[in-house]
Amino acid sequence: MLYPQEFDVIVVGGGHAGTEAALAAARMGCATLLLTHNIETLGQMSCNPSIGGIGKGHLVKEVDALGGAMALATDEGGIQFRILNSSKGPAVRATRAQADRILYKAAIRRMLENQPNLLIFQQAVDDLMVEGDRVVGAVTQVGIRFRSRTVVLTAGTFLDGKIHVGLQNYSAGRAGDPPAVSLSARLKELKLPQGRLKTGTPPRLDGKTIDYSKCTEQPGDGMPGSDTADRPVPVFSFMGKASMHPQQLPCWITHTNERTHEIIRSGFDRSPMFTGKIEGVGPRYCPSVEDKINRFADKDSHQIFLEPEGLTTHEVYPNGISTSLPFDIQYALVRSMPGLENVHILRPGYAIEYDYFDPRSLKSSFETRQIQGLFFAGQINGTTGYEEAAAQGLFAGINAALQCRGEGAWLPGRDQAYLGVLVDDLITKGVTEPYRMFTSRAEFRLQLREDNADMRLTEVGRQMGLVDDARWDAFNRKRDAVSRETERLKATWVNPRNLPAEESARVLGKSIEREYNLGDLLRRPDVSYAALMGMDGGKYGVDTLVSRETLGDLFDDLHEPVVEQIEIAAKYSGYIDRQKGEVERAAHYENLRLPAELDYMAVPALSIEVRQKLNKHRPETLGQASRVSGVTPAAISLLLIHLKRGK
Ligand code: FAD
Repeated sequence: MLYPQEFDVIVVGGGHAGTEAALAAARMGCATLLLTHNIETLGQMSCNPSIGGIGKGHLVKEVDALGGAMALATDEGGIQFRILNSSKGPAVRATRAQADRILYKAAIRRMLENQPNLLIFQQAVDDLMVEGDRVVGAVTQVGIRFRSRTVVLTAGTFLDGKIHVGLQNYSAGRAGDPPAVSLSARLKELKLPQGRLKTGTPPRLDGKTIDYSKCTEQPGDGMPGSDTADRPVPVFSFMGKASMHPQQLPCWITHTNERTHEIIRSGFDRSPMFTGKIEGVGPRYCPSVEDKINRFADKDSHQIFLEPEGLTTHEVYPNGISTSLPFDIQYALVRSMPGLENVHILRPGYAIEYDYFDPRSLKSSFETRQIQGLFFAGQINGTTGYEEAAAQGLFAGINAALQCRGEGAWLPGRDQAYLGVLVDDLITKGVTEPYRMFTSRAEFRLQLREDNADMRLTEVGRQMGLVDDARWDAFNRKRDAVSRETERLKATWVNPRNLPAEESARVLGKSIEREYNLGDLLRRPDVSYAALMGMDGGKYGVDTLVSRETLGDLFDDLHEPVVEQIEIAAKYSGYIDRQKGEVERAAHYENLRLPAELDYMAVPALSIEVRQKLNKHRPETLGQASRVSGVTPAAISLLLIHLKRGK
C-alpha cells in the first residue's frame, strides 16, 4: 500500500539521533514521519543510563541551545548530577548525569507525541524507495510505502547487528531487539561504502544482592555528603530547574583485584575478541574489561562504579566491566569483587558488531553523495555515544528540513560548536574505530564551552525555526542581563579616595593605588564577583552593591548563569581575545570553497597520493582539505597557488 500522505522528512530509527532529527525537522515546519521498530523503545539507552561527561556534555548543551530534547529529558529523568572538572578551567568543565532510564524514555516520548508536524509509526523499514539518484521514501516490513522528499537514516547498531557472548553469537540490533538485515542488504546494493564496528556492554546486576557496606558511596553534586551539599543540584538544560529533578541517588564504587584478573585471563581462549570471532573494531578509550586486563597487565586493580538504573528498579549498571566473555566467566568475575560476592546477574554482558557507513562519503550536510535527499546520522556514521548521536541527528534533521525549504545547508564551523568539530572530523578524517567526542578534538575550545552554548547557538537556532518563544525570551533576558551588568561594572569606578585602604585590602587582598573600574578588578584571578559585590559601597558612596532597582532580574534564577558569564569573560579575556584572533586569521582559508568540478589529478604540483586522496574525498573547503589524512600543509599551499592561478 502507498500511504496517502507524502512527507517532507522521514526519519528511520527512534534512538537518540532519530528522535532529535524528527523533532528538529518538525519544529522547522516540515511534515515529518518517524518510523521505528518499536514505540516502547523511543529514546532507549542501549548501554549505561548516563548522559554527558567531558566533550559529550558540551554536545548535549549545544543540542539544548538549538531547542533539542536531550538535556530537558535528562533534567526530568536525572537521578544524579555532577559537574566534572569543576576545579579546572571553564573550557573542560562538563555536566554528567545518571538517568532513570524509564523516566528519560517517558520524557522523550512525551515530547515526540506532543510535537506538531510529527507523526510516529511503528514498523521496521526494510527498503528505501530510490528514483534515479534520489531517495523518495521508505518501505516497511509489511510493504507499506511512505513517500517523502528526504530520508534521515539513524539505524544505530541495528544494521546486520550480531551479538556475541563468548563463542556464542546471534543476530540482533541490541539485546532484546531485532536486527535490520534487509535494510543493511539494500544499502550494500546501493554501493554506499561500509565497514564493521563493535561495541560492548557489561552484565547488569541485581542491587538487592549487593552488599553496599563494602563499597564506597559517591554522592552527586548538591547531595548530602558531597563537597557541594550546600549548593543546588546542577541542571543540564538552559531551560532546566533543579525542581524538575526526581529523587537523587548516590552511586557506589568497588574495584577489581588480582583474583578478578585471573578469572578474566582464564576466559581469554573463549573470548570472541581474542579468538577472531569479532571482526569489527571497538572503541579504544572505552575498552572491554578483558581488553584492559590484556593491555594494562601491570595494573592490579580497576575502579568499578555501581550506577543505579532508576528509582523503580533494583537494576545496577557496573561501569567499567563491559565484556563479551562467556557467561560463566562473567558470573565468576563479578563475584570476585568486594560487595558483589553474592550478586545475581540480571542480564549478561555482550558485544555487538554492526555495519557503519564511511562518513567521508557524506557531504558537509550529512547528505550522502551517492543518493540525493538521503541523510545519515548517529552510530551509523561510525560514532559511539548517545550525545554524539543526538547532535548528529539534530544536524541531519535541520539540513533535511532546509533542503525541503529550498535553503542552503547549515554548516557550523569548528570555532562555533563541538557539533562543527564532530561533523568536520567525520567527513574529512572518517573513522578507524568508534568515534567519541573529547574536548581535545576542538582547537578553539576556550570559546566552545558548555556555559556559553546558548550564546553561540540559540540565535541561529531561532533564525532556523528551532527555538520556541519561551526559550528565546529566556535567552534574551540572560543576554541582556549579561551586557547590562558588564556595562555597569565598567562604569563603576573605585579609587583610593572613595574606597579606603582597609576595605580594598579586605576585598582585594591589597589596597588599590589608583582608580579602577570594577570590570578591571574582576580580571584579577583572586577577585570574585561576589567579593566585589560585598564591598560596602553605601558607606563609601560607591554604587557597587547589587540592588533590585539597578539589576532587576539578576536577582532571580538568572543570577548564577549571568555571573558565570561575566566572571569567565573577565578572567579569561586575554586568552579568549587571542583565540578569536586565531579564528579570524584561519577563517579566510578555512572557508575558501573548492570548485566542485576541480580535477585534483590535474594539479601537477601535488603528490600522486594527495591528488588521489583529494579526488576521492572531494572536500568542499580548503579547511576540510587540510584535515584529510595525509594532506600536508605544504600540499595546501600548493593547492592555494593553483586556485589563485586559475582565477
Ligand atoms: P540507536 O540508539 O541504536 O537507535 C537506533 C534506532 O533505530 C532504534 O530505535 C531501532 O529500533 C531503530 N531502527 C534500526 N533499524 C531500523 C529499521 N530498519 N527500521 C525501523 N527502525 C529501525 N555508547 C557509549 O558512549 N558508551 C558505551 O559504552 C556504549 N556501549 C554500548 C553497548 C551496546 C551493547 C550498544 C548496543 C551500544 C552502546 N553504546 C555506547 C552506543 C550507544 O548506545 C549509541 O551510540 C547510541 O545509542 C546511538 O544512537 P543512534 O540513535 O545512532 O542509534
